[in-house]
Amino acid sequence: MTSFRNAHIRVGAVILAFAIIGGCSSTSGSDAADESRDIQGEALTECLSGQTIPAGSTLNISTTVAPITSIVANVAGGLADITGIVPEGTNSHTFEPSPSVAATLAKTDVIFANGLVLEEPTKELADTNLPSSAALCELGTAVLPVDDYIYDFSFPKDGGKPNPHLWTDPKLATKYVTLIRDVLVKMDPSNAAAYTSNAAAYTVKLDELDAAVTTASATLPAEDRRLLTYHDAYAYFANDYGWEVLGAIQPSDFAEPTSREVGDLITQVKSSKVKAIFGSEVFPSAVLEQIGRETGVTYVDVLRDDDLLGEPGDAEHSFLGLMQFDYVTMIEALGGDATALRNLDISDVAPDNARYPQ
Ligand SMILES: [Zn+2]
Repeated sequence: MTSFRNAHIRVGAVILAFAIIGGCSSTSGSDAADESRDIQGEALTECLSGQTIPAGSTLNISTTVAPITSIVANVAGGLADITGIVPEGTNSHTFEPSPSVAATLAKTDVIFANGLVLEEPTKELADTNLPSSAALCELGTAVLPVDDYIYDFSFPKDGGKPNPHLWTDPKLATKYVTLIRDVLVKMDPSNAAAYTSNAAAYTVKLDELDAAVTTASATLPAEDRRLLTYHDAYAYFANDYGWEVLGAIQPSDFAEPTSREVGDLITQVKSSKVKAIFGSEVFPSAVLEQIGRETGVTYVDVLRDDDLLGEPGDAEHSFLGLMQFDYVTMIEALGGDATALRNLDISDVAPDNARYPQ
């Protein structure tokens, strides 16, 4: 895997095939307010529906993508048994769990998923295998009002799957922490003090990340705080930190864009005058690479949204490490100063004993 220190940045020609096609703006709001309240409210109720475990027993937690596993591990602080389900480096958007995951789910007290329709196959397996006392907690669905969902080229509204990448936005990740704390405290009150203390310490770290992202972003003039990415993982971040997502080129079916779409994107890249475009380590794109060769835009292909750095057990293998890496990469490639981010202490606040499938 690419580490923070040796990540290579390919400077080449690039053109961004970014599809603006379809634009990237948030479209929402047309849904009835009643519906949005119901979806979010039901998800929150479900998160808090798990039964309290007997004192002295250990809470069994399952998680889906690795960033959520890392966040949960920091709040749980080694006091719970945590098993990730989605292997790192796989396409979490199309992932289907093997039948063997059913055995893990059958022992689970609570599963933390992202929601916003990211993990439907895992959710279906959970629905039929979780004990009746367990909770299926979709964090994003529970913290984000439906009217704030973002739909765009990669996640079109008529496809029924909103952009699910809330966790790359430090402000929204903080809301995940608070909800995870509340769920753990309710289900395992014997360890409430530790969960509360861990969540508070981790929230301080996320607040520091939030401040560092703000500081580093401000070193870029507004016209350079624009993103053309392959994988569409930074839409909520952009909204909260004053960036503009010009486009993301990955089609909703995760195929490569068509030649017509690429042509449109090339036109857009040329006219946008962006300084860099960003590919994803999990989704290598021959098209983007080719575009890079044929144009003069810096092509950075190392961003990652759900595959942590390094290997389990490495200090950098964490949600905070992932966020630092992505935003340092972005801001420096665009000509900004990411010192505030580089100076962050990204160490976990508690031992991470979770199992991360590879
Ligand atoms: Zn993703």
